[in-house]
Amino acid sequence: MGETLAIINCSQLVTLAGAKRPRTGGDLRQLAINEDGAMLVRGEYIEAVGRRREIEGLINANCEVVDAGQRVVMPGFVDAHTHPVFAGIRANEFEERASGATYREIAAGGGGIRSTVRATRNASQNDLVKVGKRYADWFLRNGTTTVEAKSGYGLSLEDELKILRAIRELNEQTPLRYVPTFLGAHDVPAEYKSRRQTYINLVINEMLPRVAEEKLAEYCDVFCEEEVFTTDETWQILSAARCQGMGLRIHADQLSLTGGAKLAAELSCATADHLEHTDSTGIMALKAAKVQPVLLPASVYALGSAKYPAAREMIDAGLAVVLATDFNPGSSPTPSMPMVLSLACTQMKMTPTEAITAATINAAYSLNRGDQIGSLEKGKRADFVIHDCEDYRELAYWFGVEHPWRVYASGKLVLTRSVSEARP
Ligand SMILES: [Zn+2]
Repeated sequence: MGETLAIINCSQLVTLAGAKRPRTGGDLRQLAINEDGAMLVRGEYIEAVGRRREIEGLINANCEVVDAGQRVVMPGFVDAHTHPVFAGIRANEFEERASGATYREIAAGGGGIRSTVRATRNASQNDLVKVGKRYADWFLRNGTTTVEAKSGYGLSLEDELKILRAIRELNEQTPLRYVPTFLGAHDVPAEYKSRRQTYINLVINEMLPRVAEEKLAEYCDVFCEEEVFTTDETWQILSAARCQGMGLRIHADQLSLTGGAKLAAELSCATADHLEHTDSTGIMALKAAKVQPVLLPASVYALGSAKYPAAREMIDAGLAVVLATDFNPGSSPTPSMPMVLSLACTQMKMTPTEAITAATINAAYSLNRGDQIGSLEKGKRADFVIHDCEDYRELAYWFGVEHPWRVYASGKLVLTRSVSEARP
């Protein structure tokens, strides 16, 4: 049966309860907030959600009661696009970019992703797990309980397997839930620069079958960009991944309009991610194929660009928008979903309600877990956060702040922080 836990005295219980599908249009603004809400958790799952009086009627002597102290309680964030397993950092490039160098110039000089690939190849699986735990803690401290986790800094059979095995270990050893994605086509490694097709064949004929055989990834992703993988090459790789039973995601139209969104629609990918340069034709194609756009404003911000994706146009077109951090050591060194909410509201003119929906239930659907996480409803996993604020809009309003007071994953308290009782 498991232990029971009652959460009472919430200022707002933000449930996101609703239709069992990704939210679009006006539904993005329906958070299903229970102002006098309470919740009962049994073991790893939510047993009941209701008014405080109803839930208090279910409490017995063995039940632990958590008084939320008139704070916001909501689902843990689901971060549907991260690169959380890598060695080394790139603070040096950050300084170069601050001094005027572009991401492309740094990459052309052997820096950028290649420096992370060199460091990650030199690291052991154990090294990667160790440092990965540090980042897992960062995610939890910001209220994230599930991340999609991509490989892609190995770019050889053994190194890609090493990263995916590290992700599996992190999933087992930390309270954070990892949904693994194989991104062997993150870049063409230096040693294959003049033999691109040879590398693509390696991905298709050796890496994909091994990853599938060891069940190391649920999804396959490709960095589709003019100087990385062309749309034709992306098509080859993702078609092969589909034959291995994997779901598909694409890094699309980030640095230029390459046609990645249109390709995502042709292949019926689960998601098309980035989309900074996607035009109306691409947006209509995504709509027709029900592909979810994953928008990553923190990477636009961190690259010092002003070219944010057309979130409003996507919402108006009826797309089930998702927000994610793109956590990685180069273009988006942040694990903070609240920071992403802030950017979504200030730079892409999403409302706080739309941003929260995009960061929870819609993200869960994009990872094929809409029936398990992303909202607080009976039968779902008890992944929830008590934030140290009274109003859900504060999550996007204050920025650069760690809001969580307590974080629960599968019904277990996994993080707690001392907070002030003072109120504005
Ligand atoms: Zn990415």
